[in-house]
Amino acid sequence: MQTNVLGYPRIGSNRELKKANEAFWAGKMSLERLQLTARELRRQNWETLQAAGIDLIPSNDFSLYDQVLDMCLMTGTVPARFKPLMESLANVSSPELYFAMARGYQKNGYDSTAMEMTKWFDTNYHYLVPEFDASQTYRLFYNKCLDEFKEALSIGIHTKPVLIGPVSFLLLGKIKDEQLQIADLLDKLLPVYIEMLQSLQQAGATWVQIDEPTLVLDLTPIEQSLFQYAYNKIKAAVPELKIILATYFGGLQDNTALTLKLPVQALHIDLVRAPEQLDHILSLIPSAMQLSIGVVNGRNIWKNNYDQSLVLIKKAIAALGEERVFIATSCSLLHTPYDLELEELPLQKNWMAFAKQKVNELKELKQIIAGNTSLLALNQAAMKDRSTSSIIHKPAVKARLAALTDTDDQRKNTFGIRQKVQEEILQLPLFPTTTIGSFPQTEEIRKLRADLKKGKIDQDQYDAEISKAITESVRWQEGLKIDVLVHGEFERNDMVEYFGEQLEGFVFTKNGWVQSYGSRCVKPPVIYGDVERIAPMTVKWSSYAQSITNKPVKGMLTGPVTILQWSFVRDDQPREDTTMQIALAIRDEVTDLEKAGIKVIQVDEPAIREGLPLRHADWQQYLNWAVKAFRIAVSSVEDATQIHTHMCYAEFNDIINNIAAMDADVITIETSRSQMELLEVFSVFKYPYEIGPGVYDIHSPRVPTVQEMTELLEKAVQLLPARNIWVNPDCGLKTRKWPETEQALRNMVAAAQNMRIAI
Ligand code: GLN
Ligand code: ZN
Repeated sequence: MQTNVLGYPRIGSNRELKKANEAFWAGKMSLERLQLTARELRRQNWETLQAAGIDLIPSNDFSLYDQVLDMCLMTGTVPARFKPLMESLANVSSPELYFAMARGYQKNGYDSTAMEMTKWFDTNYHYLVPEFDASQTYRLFYNKCLDEFKEALSIGIHTKPVLIGPVSFLLLGKIKDEQLQIADLLDKLLPVYIEMLQSLQQAGATWVQIDEPTLVLDLTPIEQSLFQYAYNKIKAAVPELKIILATYFGGLQDNTALTLKLPVQALHIDLVRAPEQLDHILSLIPSAMQLSIGVVNGRNIWKNNYDQSLVLIKKAIAALGEERVFIATSCSLLHTPYDLELEELPLQKNWMAFAKQKVNELKELKQIIAGNTSLLALNQAAMKDRSTSSIIHKPAVKARLAALTDTDDQRKNTFGIRQKVQEEILQLPLFPTTTIGSFPQTEEIRKLRADLKKGKIDQDQYDAEISKAITESVRWQEGLKIDVLVHGEFERNDMVEYFGEQLEGFVFTKNGWVQSYGSRCVKPPVIYGDVERIAPMTVKWSSYAQSITNKPVKGMLTGPVTILQWSFVRDDQPREDTTMQIALAIRDEVTDLEKAGIKVIQVDEPAIREGLPLRHADWQQYLNWAVKAFRIAVSSVEDATQIHTHMCYAEFNDIINNIAAMDADVITIETSRSQMELLEVFSVFKYPYEIGPGVYDIHSPRVPTVQEMTELLEKAVQLLPARNIWVNPDCGLKTRKWPETEQALRNMVAAAQNMRIAI
C-alpha cells in the first residue's frame, strides 16, 4: 500500500510567496529573486513530503498565482485581448504575460482587463476562468510541468507531475465564440497535452496525476462523452505512462461507470466527501485498475479519525489487495493552512491537523496497517478527548436547539400586515435611501483597532475614538439627507471575525492562512464547539448611534450561513446543526437590538448562494436549512421591526422562491453592473417584499452621476411596485475613500429625490 498526496499549499508557511509576488508587482523585487523564492518553496514542500515518506509526491502543484492560469499559459489558451502584448514579448512564459492575464495590464499603450475569476468548486479558492476564442492556436507554449519535474529530480526527488485534465480545463472555462464547439476544442488541446505527457515520460516520470474534478458534477451526455474520447487518445499516445485520474469534492454517482471505463492505471476518489461511493466503485472497478482513496480531509483542519479511515482502507484492501490501494489526501492540501506547530492553541491543538500534520497522518495510517498499534491508541485518545470535552459540548446549547418549535422561524404576522405597521412607525418617504453598512476604513481607523489589540491604547481611549467616528458619520449622513442611517462598522475588522471573536465555540489561529486567489490569503475562524452568545455583540455601538439621531439607524449583523461558510467548520456534527446554533446566537442579538430601540435590523447573508451544493439534487435540502437558519435568526421581533438582508450578487433565477421564503421585509442586492437586468426575476416572480437594487458599483472609485442612477431607478419601477423600492449602493463602502463616497451618496440621494417628484 502506498501513500499519495494530491497537492500541497504553496504560499509558504509565512506567506513568503504572497510577500514576494507583491514586492515584485510593486517593482521592489527582481524577477530572479521572485523565482528563487518560488524554487525555495517548492524545495521545502518536496522535502517535507519526502521526509514523511510519501510515495507519490506531487510536482507542478506549485503556482505563482493560480494552477488554472498555469494551464492556460502552458497550452496557449491566451485570450485575444492579450495577443498584442504576447507578440511583443520575447518569451511567452515570462511573468509579464502571466501576471497581465491574472491582474490586467495597463502599460506601454496596452490596456487589457484581467481574466475573470470564479470559485473553485465549493471552496473559497478562486481560479482564473480560461477563455476559449477563435483567435487561439493551441500549442505547448511552456512546459512548466516538465521544468518542475526536472527541478525536483535535480535535488534527488522523483515526483508525480499534476495536471488539470483536458476535459475539466474545458468545462471550467468559457467558450467566447459561438462557432466554437467543445469537441473541436478538445481535439485541438489534446495534442498539447500529449506532447506534455510524452516529454514527462521521456524525462523518466512514472506516475502523472491528471485532475478531472468535473466528474463529480452533473454532466450532460455530450460532456460525459468527452472523457472517453480524451483518455483513449492519451492512452494511445503514452501507453507506458501511469496515469492516476483524480476526482474530488464529491462522489462520481452517475459518472461512475464511465469513469471506470477510462483507460487509466489508477483512479482517485474522495472518501471524505463521499464515503458511500466506495462499495459501488469496488464492485465495478476493472481488475487492472488501482484505487487511490482520499481519507485525509484536504478541506478542513481536523485531525483524522483513524478508526473511521481504517474501516475504509481495510475494505479497499480486502477487495483489491494492498498493491492496488493508495491512501491519500481527499483533494489537494491547498485548502488547508501549513503547519499546526506554528500555533499556540492550548486546548484545541490536540484535535487539529494542518497540511504538514495531514501528510504525517497518511504515514501513520500506513504504519497502523502494518501493525503499529500505539499510533492508533494515541489517535483514539485524541478523538475521545474531543468527543467528551466540556469546552466543545454544551448541554444548554444542544437542549435549546432540540427544543426549537415550528413557530420559532415564523414572524408574528405576514409581510402584508407588517409592511403597513412598519410604514406607520418609520414614516419613510417613497424611494427611501440607505447604505449597506460599512463606511470607508481609513488608515486611522485600522490603526485604532490595531493599537487596541497591541495594548498601545486602552479600551476607554478606543471607545472614545469609535464614538467620535460614529458621531461624525451620523451627522454626515443626516447632512446628506439619507433616510435610514448606519453606524459605519468602524469597530469591525471583518464581518465574520468580528462576531466569531465574541461568540463561544470559535477560535482564531495566528498563522492559519489559506490562499484565496493570487497573493490574497484568508485566515478563517475555526468553529470547534457549540456556539453560544455570552453577551450582546453590537448593541453598544448601534444604540449609541441611535441615541444621537432622530432618524432610524440600522442594526448590522452577519447571518448564520455566512458565518458558517467563511469558517473552518467542525466535522463532528452536521453543518446544519452548527448553522442553527449560530442562528440562535444571532437571534439573541436581534432580540436585544430590538429591546434597545433599534427599529431596523439588517442581517447580511452574502454567502447563501455560494453554499449551494455541487449537485443539483442536493440544492433543496441545503436551501431548506439555510433559509430556516436565517428565519430563526430574525423571527423573534415584533411586526414593527423591519428586517433587512443583503446579498452581494443578484443571480437569483434558480433560487428566487427560497429568497422569498427568507421572509425578509427588505432585501438589498447588487444590480448596477447589469443595468437592473438581474431584477427581472423578481418581477416575474412577483416578489412581494421591499427591495433595494444597488444603483452604483462600489468596487470602483468612479462617482456615478445623478442621471445614470435616476435612469436605473426608472428601470426598476417598470419591474417592481414603486412602494417597494429602496435606493442604495451595491454593497458596503469599506474599501472606498471618503471624498468619492460623499459625492456618490449625494448624487444617489438626488436621484431618489428625482424619483419622488416623478411619481
Ligand atoms: N454590512 C457589510 C458591509 O457593508 C456587508 C458586506 C458584504 O455584503 N460583503 O460591509
Ligand atoms: Zn455585499
